[in-house]
Amino acid sequence: MNKLAIIPLKKIEIRDDFWDRYIGLVRKVIIPYQWDILNDRLEGIETSHCIQNFKIAAQREKGEFYGVVFQDSDLAKWLEAVAFSLAASPDQELEDRVDEVIELIGEAQEEDGYLNTYFSIKEPGKRFQNLMEGHELYCAGHFMEAAVAYYHATGKDKLIHIMKGFADLICREFSAENNSKGYPGHQEVEIGLYKLYEVTGEVRYLEQAKMFLDRRGEKPNYFLEEKKKPDFKQIFDEFKNYDITYSQSHLPIREQKTAEGHAVRAGYMYSAMADIAAAYDDTELLEACETLWNNMVDKRMYITGSVGSSGILERFTTDYDLPNNSNYSETCASIALALFGRRMAQITKNAKYYDVVEKALYNTVLAGIAMDGRSFFYVNPLEVWPDNCIPRTSKEHVKPVRQSWFGVACCPPNIARTLASLGEYIYFAEKDAIWINLFISSKVKTLMNGQEIELEMNTKFPYDGKIVLHTRSKDPAVGKLYIRIPEYVKDYSIEVDGIVREDKLFNNGYYELNTELMNKTITLSFPMEPRIVRANPLVKEDVGKVAVMKGPLVFCMEEVDNESNLPAYFLDTNAELKEQYDESLLGGTSMIRCKGKKIRSRGWETESLYTEKRPEFEEKELTLIPYPYWGNRKTGEMLVWIKEIL
Ligand SMILES: [Zn+2]
Repeated sequence: MNKLAIIPLKKIEIRDDFWDRYIGLVRKVIIPYQWDILNDRLEGIETSHCIQNFKIAAQREKGEFYGVVFQDSDLAKWLEAVAFSLAASPDQELEDRVDEVIELIGEAQEEDGYLNTYFSIKEPGKRFQNLMEGHELYCAGHFMEAAVAYYHATGKDKLIHIMKGFADLICREFSAENNSKGYPGHQEVEIGLYKLYEVTGEVRYLEQAKMFLDRRGEKPNYFLEEKKKPDFKQIFDEFKNYDITYSQSHLPIREQKTAEGHAVRAGYMYSAMADIAAAYDDTELLEACETLWNNMVDKRMYITGSVGSSGILERFTTDYDLPNNSNYSETCASIALALFGRRMAQITKNAKYYDVVEKALYNTVLAGIAMDGRSFFYVNPLEVWPDNCIPRTSKEHVKPVRQSWFGVACCPPNIARTLASLGEYIYFAEKDAIWINLFISSKVKTLMNGQEIELEMNTKFPYDGKIVLHTRSKDPAVGKLYIRIPEYVKDYSIEVDGIVREDKLFNNGYYELNTELMNKTITLSFPMEPRIVRANPLVKEDVGKVAVMKGPLVFCMEEVDNESNLPAYFLDTNAELKEQYDESLLGGTSMIRCKGKKIRSRGWETESLYTEKRPEFEEKELTLIPYPYWGNRKTGEMLVWIKEIL
């Protein structure tokens, strides 16, 4: 299938008020901070031991493995984030450090190509015998992605060679002749193998990725068979009664109609399915992707672009089951959703996927990180009552404050790599066209019909709906611009050099401008007002409630701006939503105020728990801030879905 191309990060420069503070954090704070953590240099933070494990595996130092079975992946994700960051802004010192780490990784690799410090140090001889829990293929996938990103950023291919060594071993080990049934317990290597194939042209990596996908769900179930072997060694107690749905191995992938199991595993698998569908021109597989996408976003996704309703096994549950205060909604699952959606948009050229990608990026991915870049949410609730997030309840996984680091540290480095690669989400390219998916002030250089062209985008989005594009080229550049018109835009206008275009050409949600593009100014304008959104009544949790949005941004109430007991508030949806941009608030953001009322608590202090009296209300003003910024001031209650005055 003819896929739209991602423009290399090196060709994109982002200068955007909304995003810069976060992208800057990646470089200035998150990368050095996470490096210190990987090296156990910070006091009072859970030990990582990650680099130490590599030093022990490399026989530079003596000691025991410490950490979880997938500890290596923290380093891989850090490397990938650094690579993306270096592509956008070169930094020799940082690059030197990466080269040293790559040396170390090379030394930790076993002679036959195997690379995993847990098994090399702790369980030599047990490799690939517990695919259900072992995560060797998962870590391999992340290192392959890092290798490709670093190669694109610097042209250096040492890590590519290291990972080719491991990929070749994987291809031998899991060939039709050897282990012809096995596949990973946590999907990710399929994405890594595909990227490695793209860079090296080695078709066996592509074929292996496809084989892993096609084997999933074969009967008898591989993981259940594996557990029966006499020398099987369980790693995680909670998987003693393993539910095969958890790893999406309950059915062959083409027969799966609903999003099931662990949400991050699912998202990575769907992304790989999209890659393979495009590579093999496999329309049946692409249809399976569309079916799963539709189930997920139409019936199982939060308004904040997060997925995984249950804290138990971090999983999807049933259609319309979207509890607000006990959900998991892992930051990584939203990242996986964005990765999947971006691929689907590249393949189908349909903007609807970006309505979801945008929601995930602007809400859950950003909520995952504090504004100082030093603490993180793993779980992203839509309603929090801090006193009630205590152990041994259905809410023990919900944290009212961001955590500095986790024993299972998947989310922080995943956020870093996503922010550092944001440029890859903004534009796509074709031989004769540029596609604009997100409204982020930036400059991009690409070729259009062989002619070099620079496109500059300037906007105050998401606070304002005016997007100004300037094109620059030395010679006439005839080609097309496709500009995404988001689903929340009901009316818009396009001007080219000040002249309004009467045509409103739609191409699957993209406005198509086909013209000579040398030195033109194109302006897209649409109203950006706060709006009230309601949930399908089948979402029982949200019946009679509303959410406030502006563009892709969801707004929420916080106790610090309102009074405690936020669920006692009711919003008057007939009243105006008053928005005010405040430069001093949270580094500059909008606050939305609106009229409403609140049930009085007066008289209740001495009353019993229940009464037959009618409630008394008092008039109140409700104050809301963007969801991604919650939890950056005082610890307190937070609420997205507010009761509506009917
Ligand atoms: Zn995570």
